Amino acid sequence: MADSSNALPEHGAPWTDIEARMRAMAAGDVKWRDGRTGLYIFNAGPEVEQVQKSAYALFSAENGLGPAAFPSLARMEREVVAAGLKLLNAPPGGAGSMTSGGTDSIFMAVKTARDHARATRGLHGKLNIITPSTVHPAFDKAGMVMDIEIRRIPVRDFLADVGAMEAAIDADTLMIVGSAPCFPFGLIDPIEALGEVALRRNVWLHVDACVGGYLAPFVRMNGAELPPFDFAVAGVSSISGDLHKYGYASKGASTVFFRSQKLHEFMALDAGPWPLGRMITPTLAGTRPGGAIAAAWAVMNFLGVDGYCAKQRQVTDAREKIEAGVKKLGFRVLGRPQLGIIAFTHDQIDPMKIYVQMYQRGWFTATLLDPPALHLMLSPKHNEVAHEYLADLEAALANAGEGAGGKAAGYAS
Ligand SMILES: *Cc1c(COP(=O)(O)O)cnc(C)c1O
Repeated sequence: MADSSNALPEHGAPWTDIEARMRAMAAGDVKWRDGRTGLYIFNAGPEVEQVQKSAYALFSAENGLGPAAFPSLARMEREVVAAGLKLLNAPPGGAGSMTSGGTDSIFMAVKTARDHARATRGLHGKLNIITPSTVHPAFDKAGMVMDIEIRRIPVRDFLADVGAMEAAIDADTLMIVGSAPCFPFGLIDPIEALGEVALRRNVWLHVDACVGGYLAPFVRMNGAELPPFDFAVAGVSSISGDLHKYGYASKGASTVFFRSQKLHEFMALDAGPWPLGRMITPTLAGTRPGGAIAAAWAVMNFLGVDGYCAKQRQVTDAREKIEAGVKKLGFRVLGRPQLGIIAFTHDQIDPMKIYVQMYQRGWFTATLLDPPALHLMLSPKHNEVAHEYLADLEAALANAGEGAGGKAAGYAS
């Protein structure tokens, strides 16, 4: 009976049994610790994983909703936010908050911009947000919930088409968006040019640095020439940056930043009253996981600037190796990636067929549909396995080519 029903078991079991059962369940999961997963996971090695886990466990019951009860968590959040503001060149007076993830950060930025526009621009009708076609669907979700139209403008050479975006602005435009980088191609949009548009047309510019906010600053420190993408660009009002991506924090940790405290004030939700009075929270969340805040703080202090520089160097080294390797194999890299994501396609052999071959060899990665391409989001660990990936890719390419009936069956086959 117990195994056919999903009900709570009548009797509890010892932790050792529970743990064994959970480990057995995980046996079917991707083997990400081997470095064969290029999606969902940011593998900075076993030491960082241990710090995440220990810090999370120390504060797993504590609640960031109560800063007066847990000044420890309030302090950790303040310090994490301050570190992020500094990394992203915020001016004095910049402000921000921790959230549960990138989608949450983007929601909060949109909500803040909307309430700011209502108060300062007298915008009250149906609003719109102008984005490149490559922005994360979190913007569409925010639009659905807040009844804001999201206008996706086709990219040009895989980057935001600033002229076309400006042409789409009208009197009801709340915000324009650029990514640093976008998830599909890993490319940094022309944020400086978007900043000029934002200032000229008096619209809010949000930079979605969810997957780059804690990577790009260190890649730059390591010597790469990256275009300005953060608060150094005058028109940027807000930035989202995920700690649980290249910040190597436990899942459930992101940051959203604003150029000034004045803008940040529009983010708070003042709700109620109910029998306890009013409920004022900095983000949508009520209960906020102490573990996620603590793990982010702990990893940041465990790595420090030099630790992050070293980890991020491994990411870009892995990307450079893979970029050179796939080009040698006849793939075409989409755009000119500079961070941890790379997408590449093949003009003779269907990338989906290659993908299937790679999956059978144990690689779990993403694909793009438009254009059809293979996609990798690289971690420090990938620097150790880049050569294995390329060797498997060479074999997969040969097999996929044969399966397609020779050399040039193309996508239509
Ligand atoms: C991951 C990502 C998001 C969404 O973040 P979640 O933490 O998955 O909600 C938004 N934008 C970009 C560019 C991302 O890579």
